[in-house]
Amino acid sequence: MRATLSLLGGLTLLAVASSATAGSPPVVVIDPGHDLRANLQTEPIGPGSATRKIKDGGGTRGVVSGTPEAELNLAISLRVRTLLERAGVRVVMTRSRTTGTSIGNVARTRIANRADAALFLRIHADGAASPSTRGSHTLYPAPRPGWTDDIYSRSRSAARTVQRELIRSLRFPDRGLQERSDMTGFNWADVPAILVEVGFMTNPIEDRALATEAYRSRAATGICRGALRFLGISPAAC
Ligand SMILES: [Zn+2]
Repeated sequence: MRATLSLLGGLTLLAVASSATAGSPPVVVIDPGHDLRANLQTEPIGPGSATRKIKDGGGTRGVVSGTPEAELNLAISLRVRTLLERAGVRVVMTRSRTTGTSIGNVARTRIANRADAALFLRIHADGAASPSTRGSHTLYPAPRPGWTDDIYSRSRSAARTVQRELIRSLRFPDRGLQERSDMTGFNWADVPAILVEVGFMTNPIEDRALATEAYRSRAATGICRGALRFLGISPAAC
């Protein structure tokens, strides 16, 4: 939130109001992974880094359903948005359609930083070489000095809470948590960040399930409950 005040002599003062201001609702930035098209341009893996990665490889696809991951991610994300808003949370989406070329992970993360998000909630589904690989897991940033050391413990705490509630609601096998130092979308974050891998679209059982409204709702409910618990809000609204 920014307010520009014009002062005498043309001097401009930029006042930045924090979402921590008393009375304002917490902000969750929901990031539905990928988009209609991959983005093979590169970007630095973290601020000031010479190491570059492609902006977006495009994601996976349902082995039975044929559903692109970007569509599943958005379908679950929109349900999470509805549930969180019902609980009084202000939600900002990095995208709300699947129609373009992915903006990449730095741009997605900047949206979360600018919103001063209480949680940057990235929603994905996974793919693996083996069709038998299945289950849900949640990623969070490793503590890299100068990059993520300041958001490490809050992110880990959010990952734990969301993973527990996701498993409770969706009932896919629990693959636990994964700490990652190689993810652009974590290394640029100045706010607590997690990435939920709801299930494996390369596993026929999970792909078929995630193609249904019932399982998409169960995933959204679990993610919502975890996010609200992390924010210290009653999860009853989910
Ligand atoms: Zn993905």
